[in-house]
Amino acid sequence: MAPKLEAELRKHLAARVDYYREMGIYDFYRQPMDESAMTEEEPAPIAEPTEAATPLAILNDKPAALRLIREDIGDCTRCVLHKGRKNLVFGVGNVNAEIMFVGEGPGADEDEQGEPFVGRAGQLLNNMIAAMGLKREDVYIANVVKCRPPGNRTPERDECDTCMPFLLRQIEVISPKVIVALGAVAAKNLLAVNDSMANLRGRWFDFKGARLRVTYHPAFLLRDPRQKKEAWKDLQAVMKYLDLKAKSKAPEE
Ligand code: URA
Repeated sequence: MAPKLEAELRKHLAARVDYYREMGIYDFYRQPMDESAMTEEEPAPIAEPTEAATPLAILNDKPAALRLIREDIGDCTRCVLHKGRKNLVFGVGNVNAEIMFVGEGPGADEDEQGEPFVGRAGQLLNNMIAAMGLKREDVYIANVVKCRPPGNRTPERDECDTCMPFLLRQIEVISPKVIVALGAVAAKNLLAVNDSMANLRGRWFDFKGARLRVTYHPAFLLRDPRQKKEAWKDLQAVMKYLDLKAKSKAPEE
């Protein structure tokens, strides 16, 4: 017979499940069970629930809420991308950021360092951020998928679908004023549409209380630098909305 959960633990779990439901998350994955947490005899003592353990309080404590998401991702094996990863790339930046940049997925450098946008595309993203009069530390950066696709291929639909709930939770916690979707994969997954970049760029979308703007992915801009002035127009729209003053003109490579 399966061991019964200790009452206090049941309460904690129920609160956590409610918290996820409020955020529209209904699917759960089982991780290897910690037998010591489930017993028919002497239950392990559990700390009294603190304010921070309740869903709403945790939303107010952004670092704690992000830690919880990272914990829930765990040593993820939910999709095949885990097989080739060195490091899972969760996200980085200011938890109170007004702007959140969302890319596609880690490349080789990001996989090596466990941080998004640290390679050549990351350097260009840093320059784009600087051109907006901001520092990398002012914004939050994450990706649709958190593990590097082999050979930097585009992540598959099922891989994006598997990872998206975690990105959505990160967005919920950061609650930026503006989300900048970097490239088609980010835009299509966030907006759940299958549209061309031509149709997605140049307008505002509402996204769960934030506004969302689509621009070119920095890796694309490295391949076709002539499009930088177009990307700059996208960023200028964001700056206008947030009343940011430019430090320089267009971003340099
Ligand atoms: N490209 C992305 O989409 N994300 C990264 O983190 C790096 C490169």
